[in-house]
Amino acid sequence: MAKLSHSKADILTPVQFIKGIGPKRAEIFALHGIKTVRDLLYYFPFDYLNLTEISTIGSLRKMADTGKLVSVVGTVRAIDIVGRPPRRRCIIIIGDQTGTLPLLFFQNINYFKSAFQLGETIAVSGKINSYMNRSQIVHPRIDRVEVDESNDITGFLHTKGFIPKYSSNEDFRLGRITDTVFRKIMKTVVEQFASHVEEILSNKILAENNLIPLTTALHDVHFPLSDSEKDIARFRLKFDEWFFFQLLLAYRKKKNKVDLPGIPFKIESKLARRLVDSLPFKLTKAQIHVIKEIANDMRKPKPMNRLLQGDVGSGKTVVAIIAMLIAIENGYQVAFMAPTEILAEQHYRTFKRFLDGLPRLYRGLPVNVRLLIGGQRKALREDVLEDIRRGTANIIVGTHALIQEKVEFANVGLVIIDEQHRFGVAQRAELMRKGKESIKVTPDVIVMTATPIPRTLSLTVYGDLDVSVIDEMPKDRKSIKTLVMPESQSDKLHKMMREHIQRREQVYIIYPIIEESEKVDLKAAVENFEILRNNIFPDLRVALIHGRMSSEEKDKVMDDFKNKRLDILVSTTVIEVGIDIPNATLMVIEHAERFGLSQLHQLRGRVGRGTDQSYCILIVPDWLAKLTSRQSHTPVFLHPENRQNSTDLSDSDKQKALTRILTMLETSDGFKIAEVDLKLRGPGDFFGTRQSGLPELHIANVLEDRKIILAARKEAFHLVDSDPHLRAKENQCIRKFFYDKLKDSLNFFQVG
Ligand code: ADP
Ligand code: MG
Repeated sequence: MAKLSHSKADILTPVQFIKGIGPKRAEIFALHGIKTVRDLLYYFPFDYLNLTEISTIGSLRKMADTGKLVSVVGTVRAIDIVGRPPRRRCIIIIGDQTGTLPLLFFQNINYFKSAFQLGETIAVSGKINSYMNRSQIVHPRIDRVEVDESNDITGFLHTKGFIPKYSSNEDFRLGRITDTVFRKIMKTVVEQFASHVEEILSNKILAENNLIPLTTALHDVHFPLSDSEKDIARFRLKFDEWFFFQLLLAYRKKKNKVDLPGIPFKIESKLARRLVDSLPFKLTKAQIHVIKEIANDMRKPKPMNRLLQGDVGSGKTVVAIIAMLIAIENGYQVAFMAPTEILAEQHYRTFKRFLDGLPRLYRGLPVNVRLLIGGQRKALREDVLEDIRRGTANIIVGTHALIQEKVEFANVGLVIIDEQHRFGVAQRAELMRKGKESIKVTPDVIVMTATPIPRTLSLTVYGDLDVSVIDEMPKDRKSIKTLVMPESQSDKLHKMMREHIQRREQVYIIYPIIEESEKVDLKAAVENFEILRNNIFPDLRVALIHGRMSSEEKDKVMDDFKNKRLDILVSTTVIEVGIDIPNATLMVIEHAERFGLSQLHQLRGRVGRGTDQSYCILIVPDWLAKLTSRQSHTPVFLHPENRQNSTDLSDSDKQKALTRILTMLETSDGFKIAEVDLKLRGPGDFFGTRQSGLPELHIANVLEDRKIILAARKEAFHLVDSDPHLRAKENQCIRKFFYDKLKDSLNFFQVG
């Protein structure tokens, strides 16, 4: 038998010892991560019913069938069972001075028949419906209330006030943890334990941010007496989450910045100047601005940790090249990591192309760029590794192959990670560690991403990085025209493709490959490719590329496409990010409804990279095309007619698909698109909290908590400055909670 030694106030008491739980239900709670009383206290309502008003029974008639929730108090006048199955029901009639009201129960009939006494006062709440012109409530929520001499009523839990709603999913339902049961359990727990929870913030922080005590917040978040009481409690609890979240970031940043020596690069670079002079275009103001920010960081003896953010096609690569030239002219190697082999390959070529024309390095050698990816032949690979070890490779471009054990850098002074969102923090940290191993100080780091992150968000996920933004597109770009086409109109599509190809432009066609059904999807893509090549465009040059091909095969196809030896490239999402082929002007996305919004934006960004007018065609099922053609800025809701003959998607999935397609039609602004995407998917999915190595957020909401985030961030960063080891007496509560609760996250980022 388990220990029963838990004191009445011990919030680490396992939930099974709580009244109403027991071992069976405890297992169900455990499935949801709820093991102790503490976990329960921190299991917050996802919503509240606002039932602050008690109506008189006489006034209910006008509320019948409005769908509005009402609460009334009355005494039990009659109890009876009537009808035969399946209409057999228990009817309880209650009344007050203004009238009577029948309550109907179709389930647990016998229980309800004997549950109440005639004359007993109860409070009930539910929706009023009318039956044969008479008001009634079916299966109301009920409280047995007490009325004292002065007519005050007490004992409301489910029928009056702000009623907390706790998530009731399948597991909970199976364990008969209904809404009311859950609330009863919570009432017990909150009353018994909330006042015993220890404070986790210092008085100073509490006072400066107008925060109520934690004990009050934990009570009020479950059982507030008013809307504002609820908001104040939630504010406090959100603040806590953000504060400790930002505290982690503050430590991460401090560790990178202050504690560690870095390289003070000389930023006057002849190579960089020559490169800029030789470019076929003028840098945009935004590019020049971020180059300055980067150079300024590189000059300092502290390690740089910078996020370079810029929408698809804004020209991040050339900015990276300039930083690389500074590093190699100072005698250091550069490690450049890209998420896919195709992209690594492309960068490798771009770098070579840009750098081959430059003067030799001071040792009389040209800049030596090497590529390291998974699928290379052994001899080549050995040669590359040797070049890296000896320091004769200046720029090493690769995939995550760069972080394998075998790779030993001679002296990496600059680490660049392209399309950072495709990597985890751990991979970034690992590449940095390798760099550090090679030079004994911390290398500078630039991470690049085209996923534009709303400002507040970059304070969260990338809160330990400094941010540079390229917020301007090269001038000569025409905006890409986006169209929707129904599946059934392939003739029109094929005609359009031919038009582009006749102008000697090139076309991409993308097929979705969803991980869960990879084989089926790939087969479909291959079959469609065969049809296109053999039946529809037998006269044109069509090729296929997908992730299952060897890197040599992929390389050859990309090379052919780049050099205009192909007209049409049929592809899976392997080309989603980064690919830069300015002569491609038509992007066709098959089954566009199956792609995520940011993914669609990325794919669309593969065209519109040159000076010709580009198009993106979203091919969708006919039902969806029909809805989008009624294009409007207000959300379109799915009518029953549109539910027929559409696929196996649920209504909410269809609604989301529609929103994604409409958003693509309405805007090409990466920031707006990211915001919608974030709303559709929620922050957890958008960033993958696991990937970022940061604690999960429960009550905090990155989309709504801007002000709280800023306030909490200020306090956290200030604390790390003023009392980095949390030694001050007033900070002991913070210290205790931080080390108790965030151990895992701490370990995680100490890797870095
Ligand atoms: P991304 O930011 O998406 O990585 P790239 O760096 O691949 O974008 O740049 C997209 C294309 O724009 C490339 O062909 C690049 O050479 C070109 N480019 C970069 N900067 C400019 C500029 N200032 N003016 C015109 N074209 C530019
Ligand atoms: Mg890029």
